[in-house]
Formats: sequence, C-alpha cells, structure tokens
Amino acid sequence: MCESLRLAGKIVSASIDRVADRWYASIVVDTIASFLPPAENQGAVGVDFGVTALATLSTGEIVVGPKALRTLLARVKRLARSLSRKVKGSRNYAKAKNKLARLHARIADIRRDGLHKLTTSITCRFHIIGIEDLNVKGMLGNRRLARSIADMGFGELRRQLEYKAEWRGGQVVVVDRWYPSSKTCSCCGHRLDTLDLQVRQWRCPHCGALHDRDVNAATNLRNMAVSSTVAACGGEGAGLAGEAQGETGPSEAGIQQQS
Ligand SMILES: [Zn+2]
Repeated sequence: MCESLRLAGKIVSASIDRVADRWYASIVVDTIASFLPPAENQGAVGVDFGVTALATLSTGEIVVGPKALRTLLARVKRLARSLSRKVKGSRNYAKAKNKLARLHARIADIRRDGLHKLTTSITCRFHIIGIEDLNVKGMLGNRRLARSIADMGFGELRRQLEYKAEWRGGQVVVVDRWYPSSKTCSCCGHRLDTLDLQVRQWRCPHCGALHDRDVNAATNLRNMAVSSTVAACGGEGAGLAGEAQGETGPSEAGIQQQS
C-alpha cells in the first residue's frame, strides 16, 4: 500500500496488526493540537440510546444505525452452520472458519463505523450533550441497548462523545442512571409510578401532553444537562439555584459532570 499521511507532524511509531486475515497499519503522528470549528448549533441536545433505534435525540430525530447488519447477521448463521458440518482439522474446516472470522470482523467494523458516525454527528452539531449513565453490567442482560452499543460498550460510546465534544469546545453531561428519564413528563415534570418497556407512547395524566417514550426521555436528559451546566456556571437563568450558594442546587443532584 502506498498512501500519503493524512496528518501533518512527526511520525513517532507504526505498528502492524492482523485481524481475521486482514492487515492493519497504525501510525502514530505527533501533531500540534489542531482545533476543530465549534459545534454548528450551540444548543443542547439529549440523547436516549435504545433497542429499536441506535439513538433518539431530543429534537425528535431517530438514528437507526447501519442497515447492512441484518443481512450480514443472517450470513453468520449460515456460515456457522456450514462450519459445524465440516470435519474438524480438515482444510475445508479451516477455510470455513476463516470465512466466519472475516465476517465477524466486518460486522464489528460496520458497528464501529456506525458508532463513530453517530458521535461525530452529535458533537458537530450540539454544544451541550446530555446522556444517561448506562454503565451497568445488567444493561446488556436486559437488552435495553442496540447491539452496536452493547458490543462496543457504553464506555466506548461515552469516550467518543467526550473527546469529540472537547475538540469542539462542547461538553457531555452524564445523568445519573437512577434519574427516571422515561417516566418523567418533560412538559410538567409529573412522574409516573411505572412505565412498561413495551409502552412506546403515553399521555401525561397531569398536563395531558402526548409523549413518544424515547423523545420524552431524550428531552428530559437535555433539560437535566442544561440545568446542570447553568447551575455550574452560575449564569443568568440559574434562578433559585443562584441564591442557594454553597448548597447543592436541585438539579445538580444526581449529575456527574465531566469537565
Ligand atoms: Zn405532564
């Protein structure tokens, strides 16, 4: 392969990896920090990560994630079956095994790509990003996350959002996982006692607002993120929180802030 370096700077080191019969070269370049333009829209967004969609934004946008996966996953099943029919240790077995490994690697690549596209698009556009802390082992068990995120892990998702936001002067606010983002009405703050996972839409008994489950959760995350950054800056709009100096503002409770 012959390719010019995409980054200007001093080459520090290079390493070669082999994954599923493909070769990768990683080149470390020492660059002077280059600053990316700030996020386009300086506003805030809440992001709800889910099962059906990769993510739902408080703007109402739904990010479905890579579509090619379904057919590839069907192919995995087929290849795995064909592998199981081969005689262990035979040439054909080795060939089939290699084919399956390459397919798995390709799927992982597509998932990683989908996650990168998601985090880039969010951080390019919004300054303040509210997400829920999903770093719980049980989360993977109860299938609340799309497989792309479950595979890469929530930690990776958060890591990408944080460094990409930092490049553009943005900020990620991680809301405590006990905050009931789905059960709280984003219009009036009324909190439901229970909300089944199957319920995709609900009407607030207090103010009558009709909510899409995921958009409502994302809106709550956005509001939490905004109120926590305002309280932290003590800027205008902090209102009551401004008076209670030294005390923990109401919105700060349950928020882990990354600076
Ligand atoms: Zn309400």
